[in-house]
Amino acid sequence: MYYLTRQTAFEASHYNRISELTDDENYELFGPAANPNSHGHNYILEVMVRGDINTEDGMVINLTGLDLLLKNEVHTNYDHKHLNRQHPVFAENTGLIPTCENITIEIWERLMKALPGGLLHRVRLYESSDKFTDYYGLKTMVYLTKVYEFSAAHRLHSHYLSDDENKEIFGKCNNPAGHGHNYVLEIMIKGEVDEKTGLVVGLGLIDRVVEEQITTRFDYKHLNIDTVEFQKLNPTSENFVKVLWDVLEPNLQPTVLHRLRLRETPRNHFDYYGESSYHDE
Ligand SMILES: [Zn+2]
Ligand SMILES: [Zn+2]
Repeated sequence: MYYLTRQTAFEASHYNRISELTDDENYELFGPAANPNSHGHNYILEVMVRGDINTEDGMVINLTGLDLLLKNEVHTNYDHKHLNRQHPVFAENTGLIPTCENITIEIWERLMKALPGGLLHRVRLYESSDKFTDYYGLKTMVYLTKVYEFSAAHRLHSHYLSDDENKEIFGKCNNPAGHGHNYVLEIMIKGEVDEKTGLVVGLGLIDRVVEEQITTRFDYKHLNIDTVEFQKLNPTSENFVKVLWDVLEPNLQPTVLHRLRLRETPRNHFDYYGESSYHDE
């Protein structure tokens, strides 16, 4: 089986609001997207198809054909449109809100009808560089990823090892004065899309939990000195991603945390799925 991803982009405006809710309730659910005057995005769409190679042309799918399909099915309905007013589904009087989750599902359904059966594997939609959703066609199960950054210093040093062994293993990362990173944390939530809100989770909740559990604890801190978590524990990214999971997961419940990805530098990242090693994306 071969997997192939094609990217395209469209620019659209929208707002996310439920008319019977107050302003505060709308902002709690949708964040600044609740502004009734609208805002817009450079959406980036990634379409992943899978299949066997066609022996005649050596391809899974003809990319020119796929591009034409994306033009007809996606660009025609989304590019340079106001989704609440001009999109054939979101402009209808059904109350369906153009959240990232709902748009991803809508595009999936469109492409499913237009592509040969079994070919479509995943639709990923970036609303911005710090927020995207994944959909695999499983009922209304959507993966929402929000990306946060924080800055911290650390020194890699294990209490189980001698000073010489620490120096040998961790090299310059063992520098007693420490060094630092702009950590990037991707929080992937998995869940059903709420019919009324079009969301997997209220955006206010994630932002608040991250602020309380991550930012106040770790941002602009020296991990080995300022945090209780790393008084004894060596602040490798493996240990760090587990610590982050343990402070986030109970506070996000009943929302299901699916995966944490911690980027220490642009050259390395660490994934953690909690106790379960299962992952399906
Ligand atoms: Zn938006
Ligand atoms: Zn480091």
